[in-house]
Amino acid sequence: MTDIVILSRRSYYRKIYMLCNNSCIYDKKIIHLPKHMRDLDNLFAALTKSSFRTKFHLQKKDLDYLHQKGFNTILEHTEDFVGKRLAPAYPDKDGKQTPYKGHPVFIAQHATACCCRSCLEKWHQITKGRALTENEIAYICAVIEHWLRQQSEVAKNRKT
Ligand SMILES: [Zn+2]
Repeated sequence: MTDIVILSRRSYYRKIYMLCNNSCIYDKKIIHLPKHMRDLDNLFAALTKSSFRTKFHLQKKDLDYLHQKGFNTILEHTEDFVGKRLAPAYPDKDGKQTPYKGHPVFIAQHATACCCRSCLEKWHQITKGRALTENEIAYICAVIEHWLRQQSEVAKNRKT
């Protein structure tokens, strides 16, 4: 089921918390997740309990890059990385395809367990060995976007 609802970017935060279980928003679309998958609230609650995942933060250089490029451009990069490095049934160098530095999205991928197909299977209940669906790609991008926006907010609050 893919109901498409148009939302403005500005309403993103308001809406994402209003949505109850088994859906998330990406690029103004509401994505309905299969029953066995967690919504973003539950996922992020679980991620904060992982000492490995919570080690990842954006450094000043990454935040500067993020703000300089803007979210729209960074999300285009996200779609590109996910499409090329995660979406194929058998991605190249799977397990080692996501660097630990060089782009804020790479850091976000490690922080959210969207780094390789094994982590996607373990944390996001997306099975290995088959190409990702369009909905799954949108969901992964939504997860990464959510983490990047959180990091950006934290950095803004630190400044003021
Ligand atoms: Zn991984």
